[in-house]
Amino acid sequence: MTFLCVPIMVDSPAQAVADAIRAQTAGADLVEFRIDRFTQDPQQVAALVAESPLPCIVTCRPTWEGGEFDGEDQWRVAVLEHAALGTCKPAYLDLELAAWQRSANLRQKVALVVDHADQVRREVTSGLILSSHDFQGRPVDLHRRLMAMAETPACRVVKLAWRARSIRDNIEAFEILLRRLKPTIALCMGEEGLASRVLAGKFGALLTFAALDADKGTAPGQPTVAELRGLYRWDRITPQTRVFGVIGHPVGHSKSPLIHNAGFDATGFDGVYLPMPIAPAYEAFKASVFSWLDLPELHFQGASVTIPHKENLLRFVREQGGVIEPLAEVIGAANTLHRRPDGSLYASNTDYGAALDAVCDSLGIDRSGLRGRRVAVLGAGGAARAVVAGFACHGAHVTIHNRTEAKARQIAESLAGPVADAGGSVAVASLDDLAFSAAEVFINVTPLGMYPQVEQTPLPQPPAGWGPGTVVFDTIYNPQQTRLLREAAEAGCHTVSGLEMFVRQAAAQFALWTGLEAPMATFREVLIRDAGA
Ligand code: NAP
Repeated sequence: MTFLCVPIMVDSPAQAVADAIRAQTAGADLVEFRIDRFTQDPQQVAALVAESPLPCIVTCRPTWEGGEFDGEDQWRVAVLEHAALGTCKPAYLDLELAAWQRSANLRQKVALVVDHADQVRREVTSGLILSSHDFQGRPVDLHRRLMAMAETPACRVVKLAWRARSIRDNIEAFEILLRRLKPTIALCMGEEGLASRVLAGKFGALLTFAALDADKGTAPGQPTVAELRGLYRWDRITPQTRVFGVIGHPVGHSKSPLIHNAGFDATGFDGVYLPMPIAPAYEAFKASVFSWLDLPELHFQGASVTIPHKENLLRFVREQGGVIEPLAEVIGAANTLHRRPDGSLYASNTDYGAALDAVCDSLGIDRSGLRGRRVAVLGAGGAARAVVAGFACHGAHVTIHNRTEAKARQIAESLAGPVADAGGSVAVASLDDLAFSAAEVFINVTPLGMYPQVEQTPLPQPPAGWGPGTVVFDTIYNPQQTRLLREAAEAGCHTVSGLEMFVRQAAAQFALWTGLEAPMATFREVLIRDAGA
C-alpha cells in the first residue's frame, strides 16, 4: 500500500493537531510534522506525536536542504531523539543523507533511537527515512545518493526528491521505484513532476505527499488532497492503470483532466489523465513522449495534444512509422495520440469532427447533408484551418473572413486539391464582407469574446440575412454564452456553443482510447460546474 501523507508545518500544537484531524478527515493515512519552526521545547514535540490522530513522520528540515530550521544539528537531533523515545512514537524520523554522512556523532545518536536489524533497544520502533532533496534540478550524483541510503543498515526508507527539468524526470523516479531495494519515496518537484506524485502508488512508492490546502504545500508542485483523491482518483490507481494526458505548453489551464478523469470514473475505466507540460521545441516533444511510451510499466496509452505541439505530433508519429488519419494530414495538425493494442501509434484530429457534428446536430442533418451548404468561417488560425478543412472536405462551400487576408488565402490555396476532390470550395473575403454574407452557417474561430474580454464580438454589425434559418457557432467555450451567440439568438438564429465542440472532441478521444462510448452528459456537467465554481 502507498500511503497518502499530508505535510503539516507546525507553529503550535493546537494548530498542528487540528490540521492532522483535517488531514484524517480528508482521507490521509499519515501526516508529516515539519517542526522546522517548532524546536524550542522537545517535550512539546513528543506531546504532539502523542496527540496525533494519524501515524506521523517527524522532520526538522534545515535551511540548507530547503527547510526553515537554521540552528545547530546537535539541537534538532536532540529534539528528534526526544520524540523517538516518548511513550507514543513517530512512525518515522526523517533526516537528510547529507547530515547523516557529515557527522559520525549524529549517526551514532540517531542510530540509537531508530529501529533496524542491529538495534538492541526493544522499545525503539520509529523507522529512519534518509532523504535527499534538490530544489534546482536533478543532482548529478542521484544514483550515488540512492545507493548510499539503500546501503545504510539503519535506513528503513530511502527518499529522493528533485525538481523535474521536464516530464522525462518522472520516468527516472518510476525506474528508481521499480528497482527499489528498500521502501522508497521518489518524487519530482514542480509542475513537470506531478506524474511522480499522482502515480506513486502505481509504482509501489512508500508514500506520496499532498497538501491540506493549496497554500499549505511544503514543496513545489504538491497537489492538494482534494485534487489527488477527487480529480486524479488516487484511491483507484493500481499498477495496471492506463495513463493518458494533455500535452501542451502551457497546460495548467486545460479542462481536459477534469473531463477525462470524470469520464473514467463514470464508466469504471481503469485510467488516469494528467497534464503533461512539454516545452515548445520538437526535440523536447519527441524526447518526452518517447520516454513515456518507452516504459512498459507506465501503460501510457494516449494523449490530447494542444498548442504548440499539434504539428509536432504528426511529425513524431510519421517518424515512428505510425498511422495518420488522412484528414489530419490534410489539415497539417493532429490533436490526438493513441497507442493501439498492437503498440503502433495513431494520430488523428478530433477538432474538425467535433465542429462538424455540433453544427450537423443543430441543423438536424448528418455529415453528408453538409454538401453544398454555405459556411462563413471567421479567423484563419490553427483551429480555423481544421474547421475549414472539415467542412470543405465534406462538400460545403466555405468563405474565410480574416483580419489578415493573406493567411486566409494561404489556407484556401493549401486545401484546394483535397477540397476540389470532395466537391467543396474555399473562398476568401474581407471581414467587412460579412455584413452581406449569404452563408447559412457562421463559425467564429477567433478569440474575440473570450473571457475576460466578454464584451468583444467578431461581428459588431449582425449580417442582414440572419434569421431562423441561420446557425451561428462560436468555438469559444469560456464563456459559454458569448456576446456573438446572445445577439444571434436575439436575431432568431440557432446557436451552438464552443462547449459542444470541446465536449465532442474529447468524447471522440475517449472513445478511441477506451473503446467505450464517452459519457458526454458527465463531460458537460463537470464543465458547467467548473465554470460556476
Ligand atoms: P490562432 O491560431 O491564434 O488564430 C487566431 C485567429 O483569430 C487568427 O485568424 C487571428 O487573425 C484572429 N484574431 C485574433 N485576434 C483578432 C482580433 N482582435 N480581430 C480580428 N481577428 C483576430 O488561434 P486558434 O488556435 O486558431 O484558436 C482560435 C479560437 O478557437 C480560440 O480562441 C478558441 O476559443 C477556439 N477554439 C475552440 C476549441 C473548442 O474545442 N471549442 C478548440 C480550438 C480552438 P490574424 O490571422 O489576423 O492574426
